[in-house]
Amino acid sequence: MSAWFSKKPRIAPQASEAERDQPSRMQGLWAKCEECDEIIYRQEIEKNLNVCPACGHHMPWRARERLVALLDPGTFEEMDQELEPLDPLGFSDSKKYRDRLRTTRKSLGENDAFVSGVGRIEGKQVSIGCFVFEFMGGSMGSVVGEKVARVFERARDLKCAAVIFSASGGARMQEGIFSLMQMAKTSAAIARFREIRRPYVSVMLHPTTGGVAASFAWLGDVILAEPKALIGFAGPRVIEQTIRQKLPEGFQRSEFLLEHGMIDAIIHRKELRQKLGQLLGLMA
Ligand SMILES: [Zn+2]
Repeated sequence: MSAWFSKKPRIAPQASEAERDQPSRMQGLWAKCEECDEIIYRQEIEKNLNVCPACGHHMPWRARERLVALLDPGTFEEMDQELEPLDPLGFSDSKKYRDRLRTTRKSLGENDAFVSGVGRIEGKQVSIGCFVFEFMGGSMGSVVGEKVARVFERARDLKCAAVIFSASGGARMQEGIFSLMQMAKTSAAIARFREIRRPYVSVMLHPTTGGVAASFAWLGDVILAEPKALIGFAGPRVIEQTIRQKLPEGFQRSEFLLEHGMIDAIIHRKELRQKLGQLLGLMA
C-alpha cells in the first residue's frame, strides 16, 4: 500500500496556538503510523484506542481519554485538579520555567503532568492516576509527586487498590532538588499504603524513564507494560556513551525486560481493562 505514495505527505502543518487547543480536529484526517508507514484514517486509529490497526503499534494516548476508556463508564471522578506548580528556584534556561509552565498549561489545558482520581474497573474501586506525557515530557516535579503520593493515600483511606500509568522523562530539572525529593516521598507513600494489604498495579507506558522508573513505577506489586515501551533509568544513548559498548537489540524495551524478569507482563491496550479487572479480582 505504501508504494502509492512516493513522498511523505505533509499531514500535520504547523499548528497555531488556537489550533493546538483542538488537536484531533485540526491535525488532518489522515495520520501515518511511524512504525509501519501505513496511512490511516485518523478516526480509525482513535476508534482502535490509538493503536495502529495495520501493525498494532501503540501510539501515544492522552491521559484523560485513557482513564475514561479504561474505567467503568461514568465512574471517573477527578481529584486534586487545583494543585498548580510553583517555581521555587526561579529557574530559567533558554526560557523562564514560569513562562514555560504558562504556555504548556494554556495549550494543553492541564495544570501539570498528572491526572488522578477514583473510579471503578469492572466494579472494583481503584485510586488511579496517569501521566500527561505531553506536559513537559511527563516530568515529575512537586505537583506530580504530591499527586502520586495522594493516589496511595486515597487508596489507603478507601481501602482499595492503586493503579498508576507512568510515561515520563524523569525528574523535572527546573525544580532541582524538590523534584528529586519526590522519589523518596512517593516511595514512602507506597510503604504506608502497603499496611492495608491492597494491590498496587504499575503500568509502564512508552517511555518510562529516570526518577519515575527509579521510584514508584518499579515498586508495583504487579508491573505491567505496553508493547515496545522504552523503560529504564538512563536512556540507551547515555548508557552507550558511558560504557562505550553497543547495546543488544531491543535493549530497554518491554519485551527485553520481560525476558529478563524485570516486569511481569506485556499487555495489549485492548486487553488492559479486562486484565486489570482480573488482577484486581484475584488480589484485592
Ligand atoms: Zn502501524
